[in-house]
Amino acid sequence: VNSPTASKVGSTYYKASNFHLDKIESWLRRAYPISNLSVVRSTYDYPSSGLPNVNSLHLRLALLKAYRVVFSGESVKTIYYGLVDDGGGFMRGNAMGIPGTIAAGPTGLGTFGWDTDGSYGDWYTGHEIGHTRGRYHAEFCGAGGGKSYPYPNGRISPSITGNTAIYGFDISTRAIYPPSWSDVMTYCSNQWISDFTYEGIRSHIISVGLLESNRIMAEQVLLITGLANLDEGTAELEDVQLLNLEAELEMPAPGEWEIALINESNADLKVIPFNPLVLSDDEEDPAEMGIISEIIPYQPGTIKVAIRYQGKTVAERSASANAPVVEVTEPKRGGQYRADINISWNGSDPDGDPLTFNILFSNDGGKTWEVLASGLEEENLVVNREDLPGGENSLIKVIASDGFYTGEGESGPFTVFPHGPMAQIDNPGEGQIFHLDQNLVLQGSAYDMEDGTIEADLAFIWTSNLDGELGSGRNLNTTELSEGDHQITLSVTDSHGNKGFAMRTVKVVAADAPKLTLLEIAPFSVGIVVEVGVPSAAHLLTVRTSSDEPVNWMVTGGAAWVSIDAANGVSPNDLELTFNTAGLAVGKYETLLIFTSADALNGTVEVPVVLHVIPLNMRDLFLPLVGR
Ligand SMILES: [Zn+2]
Repeated sequence: VNSPTASKVGSTYYKASNFHLDKIESWLRRAYPISNLSVVRSTYDYPSSGLPNVNSLHLRLALLKAYRVVFSGESVKTIYYGLVDDGGGFMRGNAMGIPGTIAAGPTGLGTFGWDTDGSYGDWYTGHEIGHTRGRYHAEFCGAGGGKSYPYPNGRISPSITGNTAIYGFDISTRAIYPPSWSDVMTYCSNQWISDFTYEGIRSHIISVGLLESNRIMAEQVLLITGLANLDEGTAELEDVQLLNLEAELEMPAPGEWEIALINESNADLKVIPFNPLVLSDDEEDPAEMGIISEIIPYQPGTIKVAIRYQGKTVAERSASANAPVVEVTEPKRGGQYRADINISWNGSDPDGDPLTFNILFSNDGGKTWEVLASGLEEENLVVNREDLPGGENSLIKVIASDGFYTGEGESGPFTVFPHGPMAQIDNPGEGQIFHLDQNLVLQGSAYDMEDGTIEADLAFIWTSNLDGELGSGRNLNTTELSEGDHQITLSVTDSHGNKGFAMRTVKVVAADAPKLTLLEIAPFSVGIVVEVGVPSAAHLLTVRTSSDEPVNWMVTGGAAWVSIDAANGVSPNDLELTFNTAGLAVGKYETLLIFTSADALNGTVEVPVVLHVIPLNMRDLFLPLVGR
């Protein structure tokens, strides 16, 4: 979501960068019970200035999704996630419905006291998408509205030590998360996914795959979005749009609410029962809010739409006499775009109704459409080519809405130059050391604006500056690297023949070189958040080596507020960190634990420890950092 924030010197646009999207997709691939993740990244311009309101954003995403269902035939099971960069303020995330298909949340550089990888969007998104996969909160660290959770304190493990302790394991980075870490469905610090949440998401994904849908053909389609107050049984309609196209639709699941389609003699032509979708993560909201988002067949003769709760009309929208008309004036037929694309149109309505405009883009001659913006009042929009998939048969469609009827205008075909893929090396890590003949797993991934996630193995070519081409594949096993310092290059080619590159350096040493013993401390950093005056639970650190050879080690550094139950030892060890927070004022405390071992190749490992002492009742880290 491209969210404009007004400032004195004009307008700054905040858009979550590909860095955050890479982190999020990587986290989902590593933590979720999925073998494959298919992603489409697109940029949506939020129509009003300032920080997006998450509930309004859901309404926007619901409309966007509805357009893609009716105009592109997309499956209703597709999940939409609205990602908002927190440069313009912190938009607390939530999900629309548990389970559901729409969620939104923030991303940014913040650490939340423990996450030092430069983006918190990864686990935050994992939490919200967890709701869409049917997961309720584990009610710890301020999370409410949840369901029972099997392990104490929201941990990923029933116990901290012993045979029953469960460790988190990251299949890609090989990081090990200690049993003291918390489940992603809590609001606690130090999150990973528990086996409980993992299994739960897995069974949801399986059940969605088996779902038979009740689909019907509609000659004309009515899109309806709005907000419902579930406690008071009231509602407000946002969009009502009658679209003149045929589409295959899935009827709403029946509930206590109704959509009534009413004719000019005030008679019900059709009544469709439904339920608004309940929002997650709304602990601080006094009223329970729900989102209305339905796509239903239009009944000819309907001139009024009413929302009813327990038989009583709580919101309605009437049609005016005439539909609006819109003409797209830019881009021009045959235009070629390498940079900004200026989109302009003229809308008019014979009844003089105020109009809003929804802007759709196709790069395949109208087979599929994505939504660039919706709810605009002005008659132009500038989009950057960087945000659009390229194509020679690109089209703009503008849908004008008068609050009931719509009018549509389309540009002639134009060209948006295509982009090269964004390649990433997921394994090995930078600077890793291997023995001659040791199996080295090369793993890459790539996203392309035109092709999406690139899955074809032949598109991935691996080369070494010493040994030349190594082979192809998203995953490539090789034992053939010669001794020396290699620069490994991954080249990914998309369907237009454009290339993207990523690079890594690895070292290969002689087969009889001494076994590489590296000191490994997990986790690589410790972040603790405590309320002032409240003692903190102990935290676990593990000392291991890469070769399993035992090494002598010692630890120095630290501070008065953190103590460790051993100052030296012979690995492997499980160490307990205790936090002495008595008398500490609100604030941030930082120190380094320095582990050294003369027996290990890497000699020293530094573990940053950050303690946040926060005021009482501020435990809920998901609350906005700015007021709303
Ligand atoms: Zn939540």
